[in-house]
Amino acid sequence: MAARNPTTASQDSLAVIAPPGRARVPVLLPYPFPGPFDYRVPPGLDPRPGDIVMVPLNRRAEIGVVWDGEPDGSVGDNRLRPIDAILDAPPMRADLRRLVDWIAAYTLAPPGEVLTMALRSNALRAPPPRTGWALAEPPPEVRLTDPRRRVLAALGAALGAGPLAAAELARAAEVSPAVLRGMADAGLLLPATLPEAAPFAIPDPDHPGPALSPEQAEAAAALRAAVAGRAFSVHLLDGVTGSGKTEVYFEAIAACLRQGRQALVLLPEIALSSQWLARFQRRFGVAPAVWHSDLPSRVRRTTWRAVDAGQAPVVVGARSALFLPFPDLGLVVIDEEHETAFKQEDGVVYHARDMAIVRARLCGAPAVLASATPSLETLANVEAGRYRRLHLPSRHGGASLPALRLIDLRETPPERGHFLSPPLLAAIQASFERGEQAMLFLNRRGYAPLTLCRACGHRMQCPNCTAWLVEHRARRLLQCHHCGHAIPIPETCPECGASHSLTAVGPGIERITEEARAAFPEARILVMASDTITGPHAAAEAARAIEAREIDLVIGTQIVAKGWHFPHLTLVGVVDADLGLSGGDLRAAERTVQLLHQVAGRAGRAEAPGQVLLQTYSPEHKVMQALLHGDLARFMASEAAERRPGNWPPYGRLAALVVSADTAEAADIAARDLGRAAPHGEGIVVLGPAPAPLSILRGRHRRRLLLKTQRDTAVQPLLRAWLAQVPTGRGVKVEVDVDPVSFL
Ligand code: ADP
Ligand code: ZN
Repeated sequence: MAARNPTTASQDSLAVIAPPGRARVPVLLPYPFPGPFDYRVPPGLDPRPGDIVMVPLNRRAEIGVVWDGEPDGSVGDNRLRPIDAILDAPPMRADLRRLVDWIAAYTLAPPGEVLTMALRSNALRAPPPRTGWALAEPPPEVRLTDPRRRVLAALGAALGAGPLAAAELARAAEVSPAVLRGMADAGLLLPATLPEAAPFAIPDPDHPGPALSPEQAEAAAALRAAVAGRAFSVHLLDGVTGSGKTEVYFEAIAACLRQGRQALVLLPEIALSSQWLARFQRRFGVAPAVWHSDLPSRVRRTTWRAVDAGQAPVVVGARSALFLPFPDLGLVVIDEEHETAFKQEDGVVYHARDMAIVRARLCGAPAVLASATPSLETLANVEAGRYRRLHLPSRHGGASLPALRLIDLRETPPERGHFLSPPLLAAIQASFERGEQAMLFLNRRGYAPLTLCRACGHRMQCPNCTAWLVEHRARRLLQCHHCGHAIPIPETCPECGASHSLTAVGPGIERITEEARAAFPEARILVMASDTITGPHAAAEAARAIEAREIDLVIGTQIVAKGWHFPHLTLVGVVDADLGLSGGDLRAAERTVQLLHQVAGRAGRAEAPGQVLLQTYSPEHKVMQALLHGDLARFMASEAAERRPGNWPPYGRLAALVVSADTAEAADIAARDLGRAAPHGEGIVVLGPAPAPLSILRGRHRRRLLLKTQRDTAVQPLLRAWLAQVPTGRGVKVEVDVDPVSFL
């Protein structure tokens, strides 16, 4: 057992100081139990809330966290098991414990499951110290060859800097590792622990940044004042694409750095952030700490420790960065706040944007939401006076917003079996002739979304899901995009046996690429989709090639809609603007407007004016009209007017229950029982049960119920009481999604 570290423990200013001699304490374990368990405090230990402890659980020793509040006392003293040890790990601070409790209470997830995200047990252990070589003092009397002299000189030169790592020493002295080993055997060198270098350089808030435009300067001043206020507030930084929002919130980060506090920036897709990182480096002279779930374990541990020690002044990360142990968080930025990628759909179902705001509140820090297409949720909060809006109405440097045109596919259809219409092809050709770049956007991976038998009409479907198999021609596969099930493309129809009768129906980006290659054989084409851009390196390389004009035509899925800045890209073509509109989702129209506006925003970001062409079969649709007139504010107002009367979010609350079981019967019975036990009351509506749109997913049959209430109703107590009435089991699972984003 290791001793408590007094400095880290005392930083916990909000800690409830346990009265001396507590006999039992609650300990939260990283498992889906309903709450903490009591453990006995053995003599000599004084566990405080937040301490990381080893405790027995069944036959194993588990890591847990001493939790707040009173022990529950349900287990008698004689059956209580003792805490094994308090670990020499930084205790979990009070604000993070409150965040865990808050998320668990809000999402109805077991607190231990939320704790798992905050605990990161492999980060609790300090990374093993690195060792190197130091001079033996006094040196033994041994023969010194030239190489040995060079080693001594290299270490001598480093005196004061202490020992050197073997590789570094061998390089400095221009000797082989064998020389070092020989010197160690002769007693000339002694192994020594290398001092821990600070893992992250300190960003310099006064590093010269760009001169801000008057509008930017005004917004930046408001954010700086919020940071200086050291109090919770939320600002929406709402500026058209290319208006320079990033440079503005960088000023808030600079203010936070000057205070010596830490800043957290959440990005929806950290793997696609090479341009963001480069800009950060230009503004602050050094790179920030990066956090996401794929970090190598050593980097993860070093970063976690550095954050905990206050040595990572700025962290940019994905959702999981929300759970890092900041001792002194002074600012939280959520960039592209409208992005649905912030919603985590498996495990603990939570919205990282909303929980980031909770974290800011618990830390007494300002939060900044940035977007060119803010969500209706956020706009409603602005309207209600809860958030303050800062607006950047024009593009930076006088660049104009791209001109947008609708291509009516009924009037100018593509050639038979093709998907690019003559006006779009002509525009691409023209931009190539001007030496500019073009981009085609289609939010669908693979070659074709449906494979059909021309002889019998059979559709190739996933055996585990209510979904068609998507053809991936390059890999010669039919694949389910929900469960991953894949089969080789069959030669004959599995239903009627006809040969060569299977036909691809509809386009995916592979098919668009094939069509573009045929139309523009000379063009250098880059495909950007999750199957071709597999990680941060591939994304950075793609961005570099586009910036360096090694590419003429980019063809991509929603990856290309992200915050990219490509100065030579002037044409954006949307292959199927109607794609997101089908399927009765509450936010389908809002999301389509946001996505297409973001894609359009990639065009014409420098001097040359940009042009956007949307292929559609319904040019009169309000979504197309809103995009055409660039009138997002009016569109959002009409969305608000549609949702307000029925108490749809954000004017009411929604929670989804998804019941799933191995058989349709079991799912129906459980869903019906839940439906019968549904809560009643003023303004409470329960919709369903009904088969989910994905009525079978990974072999499980799914039914949905939707609880809708007025905004001032707390849905959690209703849900708890509801679920408590209906025992599940027998393979039946009920998943709860408070504030659902996906309605599949
Ligand atoms: P947004 O995030 O609002 O879409 P960006 O922050 O990406 O816009 O800015 C668009 C481009 O303009 C970027 O290349 C950025 O570096 C540049 N930019 C923004 N503000 C300034 C400024 N004040 N001075 C110089 N360049 C700027
Ligand atoms: Zn499937």
